[in-house]
Amino acid sequence: MDKVFIIPALGDNFIYLYQLDQNNAIVIDPGDSSSVLQALNKHNLALTAVLATHHHWDHVGGIAELKKRTGCKVIGSDKQRIPGIDFFVEDRKILTFGRIKIEVLATPGHTRTAVCYYRQPSNDNETGILWTGDTMFVGGCGRLLECDARSMWDSLQRLAALPDRTLLYCGHDYTLENYEFALQIEPNNQVVEKLLSEIRQKQQQGEYSVPSTMSQEKSTNPFLRVKTSQIKASLNMPQAGDVEIFAELRRRKDIF
Ligand SMILES: [Zn+2]
Repeated sequence: MDKVFIIPALGDNFIYLYQLDQNNAIVIDPGDSSSVLQALNKHNLALTAVLATHHHWDHVGGIAELKKRTGCKVIGSDKQRIPGIDFFVEDRKILTFGRIKIEVLATPGHTRTAVCYYRQPSNDNETGILWTGDTMFVGGCGRLLECDARSMWDSLQRLAALPDRTLLYCGHDYTLENYEFALQIEPNNQVVEKLLSEIRQKQQQGEYSVPSTMSQEKSTNPFLRVKTSQIKASLNMPQAGDVEIFAELRRRKDIF
């Protein structure tokens, strides 16, 4: 049974504690250490490793303290910019924790060296889990800070090729704003409309919008839906190619 504990931090970041077995866990993107230490204590878990999706401070700020306090290993894809790396990983590397296998997927776009981590299902009854950092959000995608639109588009396509029921845990709670943007681009998308009202309700009750599923993203996330005629019409770009439309969407979202 997979257990993912969601730790809200730093305003709108999500840190994730993933339980490996009865006593051990890994943490994904600890931008802050104190909330992670509290969660470890609460659930009586030892920290085996940190997995970092990219080098931004709000994803790695807690690493040094966690390493000092727990002796955990630090895993990441950027030796220069992620502090304290013990294991440098590249695309398609499989991390093995007992029977749990987590694949590294290089997803440049938000940063040059950004990766996602995919917990592979080990049998047909299990569901894959994807930690996307700032590459894919619920209803959106990260800003293009170090790469061009083509890189991010390719990375998102790669994630979208994972099984539909894959659970998606992203690095920030931008869901409300993302769905408001999605509805502006695709006013007739009833799934977005329904989810938007659900999310508003969840926020009032202190619930989170993660996890999403890949199938939910495919039916709601405008950045995965650039091929649809509605979006092409909405942008008034009926003849444009996928990357061109994606880039225009990203430009509009930047100023939304
Ligand atoms: Zn970032």
